[in-house]
Amino acid sequence: MPDLPPPPALPDAFREILGPQGLLTAPEDIAPALSDWRGLYRGEAMALLRPASTEEVAACVRLCAAHRIAIIPQGGNTSMVGGATPEARPGQVVLSLARMNRVREIDPLDMTMTVEAGLVLARAQQIAAEHGCLFPLSLGAEGSAMIGGLLSTNAGGNTTVRYGNARELMLGLEVVLPDGSVIHGLRRLRKDNTGYALRHLFVGAEGTLGVITAAVLRLFPAPRETATALCALPDEDAALALFRRFRAADEGAVRAFEYISGAGMDALLATIEGAVLPLAAPARHYALVDLTASREGAGLAALMEGVLEAAMEAGEVLDAAIAGSEAQRAAIWRLREEQPEAQKRAGASVKNDVSVPVSRVPEMIRRCSAALTALIPGSRPVPFGHLGDGNIHMNLLQPEGMEPAAFLARSEEIMHAVNDIVRELGGSFSAEHGVGRLKTGMLAEWRGGAELAAMRAIKAALDPLGIMNPGKLLPGG
Ligand SMILES: Cc1cc2nc3c(=O)[nH]c(=O)nc-3n(C[C@H](O)[C@H](O)[C@H](O)COP(=O)(O)OP(=O)(O)OC[C@H]3O[C@@H](n4cnc5c(N)ncnc54)[C@H](O)[C@@H]3O)c2cc1C
Repeated sequence: MPDLPPPPALPDAFREILGPQGLLTAPEDIAPALSDWRGLYRGEAMALLRPASTEEVAACVRLCAAHRIAIIPQGGNTSMVGGATPEARPGQVVLSLARMNRVREIDPLDMTMTVEAGLVLARAQQIAAEHGCLFPLSLGAEGSAMIGGLLSTNAGGNTTVRYGNARELMLGLEVVLPDGSVIHGLRRLRKDNTGYALRHLFVGAEGTLGVITAAVLRLFPAPRETATALCALPDEDAALALFRRFRAADEGAVRAFEYISGAGMDALLATIEGAVLPLAAPARHYALVDLTASREGAGLAALMEGVLEAAMEAGEVLDAAIAGSEAQRAAIWRLREEQPEAQKRAGASVKNDVSVPVSRVPEMIRRCSAALTALIPGSRPVPFGHLGDGNIHMNLLQPEGMEPAAFLARSEEIMHAVNDIVRELGGSFSAEHGVGRLKTGMLAEWRGGAELAAMRAIKAALDPLGIMNPGKLLPGG
């Protein structure tokens, strides 16, 4: 696949479906869609399709199926694993959902919002807020990532600890299948046991089973009270102990509980303009605690102070800064959200988006950090992430002065060193970023046997021609 050269008149056929606005073929116009955010991959495509409706998507997919043209669905192109980048070969199109960005319906009574796949997450949050509601998904790429991409990767982010992953935030889907037929599943039901829950097949499928064109999202009451703190901690165990304290005090109030390593914070303070540590002295470990409540007078400030005081007495917290305004809250969050950008600016880095049971996080961070610095002396482990979900980005920065290419040449070794430990601890090699192109080999290794065979059977049943996002997710697929 593909086994036929594309006919020369194909662009005209696409133009007929999409109109002049919906088709880009000039190399300079399509170049940004051919490489990934991290600069790991660069691919080829004969065109960038920009449909404006589900009918246009379906017609394009039918045309592609007829000519065995591979389709790479693309949202905000923020994938960390090269999931939305075409392969370096002919016979492919990138299908961007960017023009399908309408809110079809919002219902504050049902607490649902029906949106198209190209709606950017930050805009979805804003529209929900304008209706007095909350769409709680939140992550560093929210200014670019789109609902279709977020669902296709089952994105997690900062609020999973309270609201779940993208999957838990979705009630219904509209999907164009690889033969161009459409599943009209935009149901707003909280309960619907009518056979296989097909909508869940497409969540986390990374565009390998069809194109998500719209979704029904769950909304929640808007927060009316917040309390946010950055805490300096003596060690990794203290981070887990502090998380347990907050959970025990009021589990429902914890919106986010994030860990940041001292080395990661140092890199951020050195590379991100305007970033300031709101504490008396730097520490080796930090936790960001974010509490919210949907009712006023919930007493979150007292809860925050009470828990931190007890934790300080127990020696689990060395120092803490509690945000006194929305601007201070944003400044604290910036210290967490700019971690990926800071690491990019600090040199070459290798990313490991891993998860373990929450109770094993301190052991995982300690063992992985030791293994990585033994493997590459001078390298800097910069773990950070969603401690409350057991999901840490166990990233490694190159040693200062080392040639970036020489460091990156050891990526496989680095990833294996982390994965060996994560596997022993009962974890996963990809907690929230997916498999994409980067980790297909790992999928074969970790999910082989009956699990992988079942995945292949589903792929063969829905996409017998293998035109949907080839080379992603499934090894050799
Ligand atoms: C700074 C930064 C921070 C991040 N933080 C997080 C985080 O905290 N948690 C997290 O989970 N991820 C995070 N990510 C990763 C990324 O943002 C997510 O994977 C996001 O869900 C991708 O959305 P997107 O619209 O950019 O999708 P893309 O990158 O365009 O595509 C991702 C995958 O989905 C497929 N796809 C896209 N749209 C569709 C569609 N409509 N139908 C079918 N398939 C489709 C693509 O083919 C590809 O396989 C981060 C990324 C960055 C750059």
